[in-house]
Amino acid sequence: MADLLVVGSVALDSVRTPFGKAEEVLGGSATYFSYAASFFTTIRLVAVVGADFPRTHLDLLERRGVDLGGLQVASGPTFRWAGEYGYDLSEAKTLDTRLGVFADFRPTLPAHFRATPFVFLANIDPELQLDVLQRVERPRLVALDTMNFWIQGKRDALLRVVREVDVLVINDAEARMLTEEANLVRAARRIVSLGPRTVVVKRGEYGALMARQDRFFFVPAYPIESVFDPTGAGDTFAGGFMGALARAGTVDDATLRRAIVYGSVMASFTVEDFSLNRLVRVETAEIEARYLTFREMMHVGD
Ligand code: AMP
Repeated sequence: MADLLVVGSVALDSVRTPFGKAEEVLGGSATYFSYAASFFTTIRLVAVVGADFPRTHLDLLERRGVDLGGLQVASGPTFRWAGEYGYDLSEAKTLDTRLGVFADFRPTLPAHFRATPFVFLANIDPELQLDVLQRVERPRLVALDTMNFWIQGKRDALLRVVREVDVLVINDAEARMLTEEANLVRAARRIVSLGPRTVVVKRGEYGALMARQDRFFFVPAYPIESVFDPTGAGDTFAGGFMGALARAGTVDDATLRRAIVYGSVMASFTVEDFSLNRLVRVETAEIEARYLTFREMMHVGD
C-alpha cells in the first residue's frame, strides 16, 4: 500500500440548503479528502488551523489514522467558509470566505512526508499548492483540484501549478471558467494542453467524466433519493479516487476507471448529511456494496 499526501483547507463551514442549516461545522477540502481516502490508504495531511479549532475534530481524523504531522495550529482564526444551495443543489453560492490563518501559512513538511508517492493538491491557494509540490521528492502521481475563488483571484499562480500536475480533478462549472470553453469536451482538451495528461470533470448529480489522450470514460452519479447537503462531495470524490489509486499502487487505464467509481461511491455518502456526519458512520461493507451497484448500473450486457 502506497501513501498519499494532501495539502488543502481544514475549515469551519456554515451551510444552508433547502433542507436545513449547519453552523460552524467541520469542513475543508483536505478534511473531506483525508477522511474518504483513509478507507483505502495511509494519509498525510498538510494544513493549518487556528487555536479556536475544536480538538474533537482532530481526534476524528486521528482515529482514521490520518498523520497530522503537517498540521500546524497557529494563533488566529481557523479558515471559515459559508455557502448556500438552491433546490437544484448543483452549485454552491459562496456567502463568505475568511482565510484566517491560511493568509500567512507557510507549510512545514516532516521529513517522512517528503517521499510520498501520491500527492493531492486539494482546493486551496495555488501558491501553497506550488510550495508543497516543490518540497516533495518526485512523486509518482500528482493531482490537483481548485475552485472559482482561485481561478478568478490567482489565475497566474494556478496556471503555473496546473502545468506541473498529472491529473486535474475539477467540477464542470470551474472547468468552463478556467478554459473559457462552454463545451466540456473542448474544455477537457484545453486542460490537457495546459499540462495535465488526465482530466477528471466532476458533474455533481450527472456523475463524472475522465478524458485521457483521445479516450473518454463516463460514470453516472449513484442514484441517491435524499441528497441533503452537497458540500464536500467534490473533495470526497477526490479522496476516494486518489485513495483507490494509492491502494492499487499503479496508474493505468483500468485502475483510473476503478478509482473514478470509488470516488463516486464515497461522494454518494457525503451528500446524505451535513459535514462529515454520514462519512463518519459509513462501514467498509457499504462502500463495497455501492461499488458493486455501480458495476451493475454501468453494465450494458452483450
Ligand atoms: P466541495 O467539495 O467543492 O463542496 O468543497 C467544499 C469545501 O471546500 C468546504 O468544506 C469549504 O470549507 C472548502 N472551501 C470553500 N472555499 C474554499 C477556498 N476558497 N479554498 C479552500 N477551501 C475552500
